[in-house]
Parts: sequence; C-alpha cells; structure tokens
Amino acid sequence: MEEDIKELLKMDVQKVKGVGQARAKQLHKLGIYSVEDIITYYPRDYEDRSRLKKIGELVDGESCTFEGIIASKVTEHRFRKGLTMYKVLIKDETGAITATWFNQHYIGKVLKPGERYIFFGKISGKYRNLEVQNPVYEKLEDGIAKNVLKIVPVYPSTADLSQNTIRGVISNALDLVDGRLTEFLPEKILREYRLSEINYSVRQIHFPRSDEDFKNARYRLVFEELFILQLCLLSVKKAFENNNKGIEFSKVPEMEDFIKSLPFKLTDAQRKVFEEIERDMESSNVMNRLVQGDVGSGKTVVAAMALFKAVRNGYQGALMVPTAILAEQHYQLISSLMEPFGINTALLTGNQTKNQKNEILEGIRSGKIDILIGTHALIEDNVEFMKLGLVITDEQHRFGVRQRALLSKKGEAPDVIVMTATPIPRTLALILYGDLDISIIDQLPPGRKPVKTYAVDESMRERVNGFIRKEVSEGRQVYIVCPLVEESSEIEAKSAVQHAKDIAEKDFRDLKVGLLHGKMKSKEKEEVMKKFVEGEIDILVSTTVIEVGVNVPNASIMVVENAERFGLAQLHQLRGRVGRGKHQSYCILYSDGKTQVCRERMKIMQKTNDGFVISEKDLELRGPGEFFGTRQHGIPELKIANLYKDIDILKKAQEAALKLISEDRDLEKEENYGLKLKMMEILNEKLYNITMN
Ligand code: ADP
Ligand code: MG
Repeated sequence: MEEDIKELLKMDVQKVKGVGQARAKQLHKLGIYSVEDIITYYPRDYEDRSRLKKIGELVDGESCTFEGIIASKVTEHRFRKGLTMYKVLIKDETGAITATWFNQHYIGKVLKPGERYIFFGKISGKYRNLEVQNPVYEKLEDGIAKNVLKIVPVYPSTADLSQNTIRGVISNALDLVDGRLTEFLPEKILREYRLSEINYSVRQIHFPRSDEDFKNARYRLVFEELFILQLCLLSVKKAFENNNKGIEFSKVPEMEDFIKSLPFKLTDAQRKVFEEIERDMESSNVMNRLVQGDVGSGKTVVAAMALFKAVRNGYQGALMVPTAILAEQHYQLISSLMEPFGINTALLTGNQTKNQKNEILEGIRSGKIDILIGTHALIEDNVEFMKLGLVITDEQHRFGVRQRALLSKKGEAPDVIVMTATPIPRTLALILYGDLDISIIDQLPPGRKPVKTYAVDESMRERVNGFIRKEVSEGRQVYIVCPLVEESSEIEAKSAVQHAKDIAEKDFRDLKVGLLHGKMKSKEKEEVMKKFVEGEIDILVSTTVIEVGVNVPNASIMVVENAERFGLAQLHQLRGRVGRGKHQSYCILYSDGKTQVCRERMKIMQKTNDGFVISEKDLELRGPGEFFGTRQHGIPELKIANLYKDIDILKKAQEAALKLISEDRDLEKEENYGLKLKMMEILNEKLYNITMN
C-alpha cells in the first residue's frame, strides 16, 4: 500500500478524475504536472461561505450566503452590443432580493421560478432595494453543496481555469489519495510541537471545515516546510564540513603591522569580525562565512586583512565583485595597502587587452601574483591559480551560489568569505544562509553623520537645485540617479541620458556634469568614474550601476529621481553612496508616487538610516516573494510558509531541526526514516543549487 501511494503521487496529473489532456495543459501553466503537485497547490485565500443568512439579515457591502426561491422569470436587459444583463427576484419568508448577472445567457434556462437555491455574493443596498451581483448559485443535492455553505478556497489561477474547475480537480485529487498519505514527521515531533496528522492537514488546508481546522492544518504544513528546509541546509553544511578538510592557516606576526598601516583605527566591530574570520582560517575546517555589514561599515579592509593573512601563509587570494568599477576601486585600495609589504596585487576584468590578460593569467599560474581582484572574469576556465587559499566575493547578492562555488573550485578546499551589504533581517539570514556562518559588522566608523533624507516633489526642484549649487561651491560632489537609461515612451521616468543633457544645458550649465550608465563601454565607465573620484566631475548623473560598493567620500548629495520606482533596499543602497566621508550628507528623493506603499517607503527612508530596520520594512511592504525575487539565494520557493509572518514557526522548526540532528546526526534511527527519504528527495530535486561542490 505504501509503495502504491508513492507511485501515485508521482503520476501524471491526468490520473485525477476530470483532468484530460487539455486541462492538464492548463494546469502545466500553474506548474502542476503530477498528482503531488496538485495536492500541494495551496489556496492563496479563502471565502467564508459557511454561514447561511435569511434575506432579511443581509448586510450592505458584505459577502453573504443565503437561501431563497426564484420568485420571477429571468428578464433580459440589453444595454449595448455585447452587454446584456439578466435579472431575477429571489424571496424567502423574511424578504426579497434582486440578483443580476452580466452576459450569462444560460441563466434563464437554469433558474426556474419556484426552485430553491443557495446563493453567495456581495450584497448592496438595503431593505426593499437589496441587490446581489453575479452571485454563485447552487442547488443542494441530497443536502450536499459543493461551492456554498462552507469555507471555500481561492487558488492562484490563470484566466482559462475558473476557481470552480480548480476546486473540482483538487477535490478529486484529494479523494484519489484519501487517507493514504504516509506521515513522515517523527511521532515525537508531532507530539512535541502539537502538529496535526498529514492527511487531515492536506485536506483541511484546501477545504477547511472551520477556522480552527484551517489554523491547525496551516501550522503543520508551514512547520513541515520550514523544518525540512532547515534539515536540508544543515545536512549540506554538514557534508561540507565532513568531506573537506580545510587549510590550517597559522598566525601571522606581521598582522598588527598591517593593521597599523591602515589609514584609520579599526572599529570594534571590524576587529570582532576579523577575529571570527581568523579563528575559522586557523581551524582545520573549511571556512564558509558570510560577513554582513550595512553600507559604509568598512567591509573592504576586513577582506584585505584576511587576504594578507592568506598570502603570508604562502597562499594566493581572490576577490570577486559584480562590476568593473567596483573591481577597479578595490584594486586601487588593496594594492596600495599590500605594496609596502611586497605583496603583488592584480586586476582582472573583461575589458583588458589580450596581452594584459595573458600576462596576468601567467602571473597567477606561476604564483607571481598573490592577490587577484576582478569581476566574473575570475571564474573563467583560463584562470588557473598556483595555490589558491582564500576566496572572497563582495556584494554576494549579485552572485549565485553557483558562481561562488566555481571560484572555490579553483583551489583545493580554499576558505570562503562572502560579503554583503544587502541587509537581511537577522532571522531570515539564518534560513537563507543556513549553510554559512554569519558575522555582522554592526557598527559604523566613528564620526559618520547619518545622511539627512528628504522626500520631495517637483515643486521643490528650484530649492533643491540651489542647494546642490551651494554644496558644489563648497567643494562637494553630487550623484543624481535615474531609473532608466534611455527615454521610454511607455514609462514616464527620467532617463539618465536625457537628464544629464538637460541639466548640463540648463540648471547646471556652469558645473561639470558627467554621465554613467550600464550600456556604456566598460572603458568609458571607468574613465567617468575615475574623473568623479578625482573631482573632475561635480555632478554625476547615473543609473543604478553605482548602486553597489562605489566609494567617493567627497560626494555629499544623492538625488534619486522617480524614487517611487525603486525598492526600499535599493534606495538604502543608493543612499549609502554618500555619508562616507566627514561631511554632512543628504539624500533627496523625488517622487510623485501617490500610492500608500510609496508614501510608506518615503516615510521610512526619512525616519531611519538603519539597514536592518529598512530590510524588515521592505519585506513587510513587498512580501517575501518579491523580496527574494529570483532563486539566486539558492533556496527553493516556499509553497506555504511566509518568511515574514511565520517567523515564530520558523524559530520552532529551526530548534526542532537542530535538536533532531544532535540526537540522530545522519537520521539513521528508524523513526526518522520517512523524514530522511523526504529530505533526499528535496535535496536531489530542488536544492541541487545549494550544494557547494
Ligand atoms: P562597505 O562596508 O560599504 O564596503 P567600505 O569598506 O567601502 O564599506 O568603507 C567605507 C568607507 O569607510 C571607506 O572610505 C573606508 O576607507 C572607510 N572606513 C572603513 N573602516 C574605517 C574605520 N575603522 N574608520 C574610519 N573609516 C573607515
Ligand atoms: Mg563594499
């Protein structure tokens, strides 16, 4: 029997009653292929149609269920071509209500005077003028209703599949597997966390008998999903720790000299995080550490210190960043720090000449170059290190787990650091980067003044321009960020190209205006950036290419045009480009966005400079789906859990997973067998992306 159900779940969705080829095709569009897919296609919402009311009790504006007798013939009212309304009167002993439908030509054939139906729909009007538009109607058969008198699920759907159809298919699928799903959560966990049994949960999540049944079912399924995800992450991490003896770096006597040579004193947070890194580097396990720190917290020098340690141990180090501009900047800084110690640093980007490139590749192969900094060019096949011992990726969110792994493979179990400024709520970092240890630089260098932020509209433009002129006259520089590269007729957004032209010709004719966008050649981009760094450009108009990492401490104003088109996290990153030096800095957000979410975003930006607070809010305003965007983080999409709302369950699931692993490391006990199978299935199918080898 058990085998049967397993096979059944894997079978084509056409196995379900009522699903033929055509319907299967429609279901494919929703990502449903197998019987299992259909029963785990969870509702996005529910309609409570369970409470039957008398017509006399119906309330204006509410969606209600009521029973009545058809008290008139269906009448037809033609408004214009293609728009016909059908009308009928419904009565019970307490009152009457008019129901209307549009373009449902068969209504007159179905609803016959004298027949009794149950209806569900949104009520409008009062007393003698009660009305309901497009109500659901159903005749009881043997006292049983399908779509009324119950809590009805609402599914995410496409136009060609009606809710009724999906409901029917799911109901049939549930009947097919009825009561036969095997429980794979261990008895102990079910009891300890008071989780409902699987068959009950799956049925009740689709067709809950009551609110309470729904809550029980959801709790179990959310727990299950997060619990298994945690177990998978833990096992990936474990596999990594087991199989890979890492390099045992030793203490470097010159470390303190190197730190002293830095142009500033390290913050306590930087020291603390570097200590964590050192401990990892000196241990025999492979380091896998995420260094998180808000924009401007000083991650780069921490990376430099780790690189220094690796090189002094006789290894090479690599630092990979998402853009050529950033690579260039890191190269400038790091090579200047390394040079006095006789350490060779090289830069590798996509836009070097063949000769330059070959020389660098040769230097890496022979070991003449100690530290290589660059873009994706680093993971190309022709890059071969002599002895790679440390791999760092900066702005991790721009890279996939895959790319990180590719770089690691260029050495023999090198230590790995990933750095990111995309603040992720702490609890979420745990789940997203469950395969990594986490260090947080939770402090900014001293003397930083919070960036003053103002949300403004067009009416303020003159004043803002005056302010920009004043700052520039005092020697400061300005960024202006626009959402699009070129003017598009569809969306009215400031384009960088046009805007740069406009202001250079009008508002800021006397100032030096530069332009930077993603469609420019890398060489051009570098030249512009260089000019900005050297102060030859006063105002840099750009797209979001400057979003990550770029460091120009003299810039004191960040203007964002059409700020409503950016997410909160992105605005925070952009704002992080200023306030990096000793000057008071400002962020001006132009927005005409009138939506609630937009106003809310602007309010948050004005209120706080704390990246973590902002990321929490971002998640709340956008919902986790959008927050994670693609699957770049390497975790599968969640079917039911909501990482924002279900944090409490997440914590419990995490606790349970850790405990289970500590008791039965490889899930070898019989009671955990079902769970192990489930995990293997997920690891094989869905999480392949997260394994780091
Ligand atoms: P991020 O964490 O955003 O990558 P950076 O490493 O670019 O930050 O550092 C931001 C700025 O802060 C740089 O100008 C850097 O020189 C400076 N900085 C870093 N650490 C310190 C420190 N301990 N004291 C003063 N300034 C620092
Ligand atoms: Mg940085």
